[in-house]
Amino acid sequence: MFGLMQDWPLLVHKIIDHAALYHARREIVTRSVEGPMARTTYGELALRARKVAQALDRLGIKEGERVATLAWNTARHLETWYGIAGMGAVYHTINPRLFPEQIAWIASHAEDRVLFFDTSFTAVIEQIAAQLPAIKLFIALTDRAHLPQISVPNLVAYEDFIAAGDGDFAWRELDERAACGLCYTSGTTGNPKGVLYSHRSNVLLSLVASGGDALGVTGRDTVLPIVPMFHANAWGLAFLAPMVGANLVMPGAKLDGNSICELLETERVTMTAAVPTVWLGLLQFLEASGKKLPHLKRVVIGGSAAPRSMIETFETKYGVEVIHAWGMTEMSPLGTLGTLKPGFEELPYPRQLDYKVKQGRPLFGVELKLVGDGGQEQPRDGKTFGRLKVRGPAIAKGYFRGEGASAFDEEGWFDTGDVATLDEDGYMTITDRAKDVIKSGGEWISSIEIENLAVSHPAVAEAAVIGVHHPKWDERPLLIAVLKPGKAATREDILNHLSGKIAKWWIPDDVVFVNSIAHTATGKIQKLELRKAFADYRLPGVA
Ligand code: AMP
Repeated sequence: MFGLMQDWPLLVHKIIDHAALYHARREIVTRSVEGPMARTTYGELALRARKVAQALDRLGIKEGERVATLAWNTARHLETWYGIAGMGAVYHTINPRLFPEQIAWIASHAEDRVLFFDTSFTAVIEQIAAQLPAIKLFIALTDRAHLPQISVPNLVAYEDFIAAGDGDFAWRELDERAACGLCYTSGTTGNPKGVLYSHRSNVLLSLVASGGDALGVTGRDTVLPIVPMFHANAWGLAFLAPMVGANLVMPGAKLDGNSICELLETERVTMTAAVPTVWLGLLQFLEASGKKLPHLKRVVIGGSAAPRSMIETFETKYGVEVIHAWGMTEMSPLGTLGTLKPGFEELPYPRQLDYKVKQGRPLFGVELKLVGDGGQEQPRDGKTFGRLKVRGPAIAKGYFRGEGASAFDEEGWFDTGDVATLDEDGYMTITDRAKDVIKSGGEWISSIEIENLAVSHPAVAEAAVIGVHHPKWDERPLLIAVLKPGKAATREDILNHLSGKIAKWWIPDDVVFVNSIAHTATGKIQKLELRKAFADYRLPGVA
């Protein structure tokens, strides 16, 4: 017997309709690509999203077709998402930090039919347009006055594109399982793979993630999503902010410490989210300028491990609560969040930090398990490492066009490629990407844990630990560090700092200082490049 409740499909455009009706005057403030700050409201944004849908419909875009965006976080970008999804097409976010050839490859793999782009990326468009014959129209996210003068024939300014419509467009009545968004993952092995979100998965993720013990976003918040819309669905913030009526502050192209600090201050931001490298920039700026964060209440750190020292600085020096988050593009993307369980607030602060530095506990709808080398499930004792597998309604069950099928098993588990531990309280700790694990004498060493400790040294800005060949132990850890501007430290200083805090055999065999460490397009340390650069490195004492 079925229940007698309504089948009200979970469609993302219902979110913007709700916002337009009940949070019409709440604001979306953008640092525009053209320069000035631009202000709009959910009421206006919803109307313009319908104009986008009308214009795409007029162009002949059909349900399920892919419409690409190559753009920063702005109100216009958000309008395109809702307009595209509401007319039944699929928004396809492309990461502009990729090389032009990779962008062209992804756009043709996805068979994109239209491409919206910010004028910051005009040169890329000029370079790849001829390789993308399936694209009917390139739309520059600007007005006619700022339309780039390039030799791309099918080019139009966004404001002209939507001007012809009056916004009188009926959203399509779709199946909630219909494709809604597409995002390619970095593809560290092989080509990038497409993750295809559904309307249902996006709505479910937003409902769960806004909860009080999750991101805790309410209508009284002003949210600054620094995490780009082109990286992993903007961690759900583009849906959950309008859902609850929170103001949005969109940072556009400027993500340096000074620019972020200015937005936090002038727009009185209460909640923000980004990868650790962005926070490194902000904290360095705050230290140098002596500025404080009087309005900010919560900061979400994810995408790479949040170092303990970063969490502590935000919380004790600036009075901002940190939520450590782990997730993946394949998980819509939130998996675990590091909020404290009841009673943990009474623990001494260093003990609280022990939990906050872990990647957190799963949201409702995220099943986790650890498996050993033989496929057996590992104990949840906080010590035993295992490969992390996940399952749930906002987690991919396959990649676009059936690629990468080996990551999914018959029971519906997705192999994250992460190695982790789970403790008795449900907190998960990522120890490494499986391919970055250091195996010394047959035992695993967590590079993340050593990196975390290394950056708590006052002179160290950033650190990476990789395995380097060793004749006896197979691999031994090498620590590569970037010092803070104007600070000095020696190899011995760093090793002494680690000593006593981790097992003796985890202490790196050597420390190398470099001027900078390269990051991937999604802000992660490029370990592959480091391993290549140090492939022939001779550790001390090795002949
Ligand atoms: P992406 O799909 O680009 O967001 O990358 C997902 C991967 O980033 C995960 O599988 C992890 O390896 C890594 N990651 C994300 N968040 C964290 C975190 N808080 N700590 C450590 N690694 C993380």
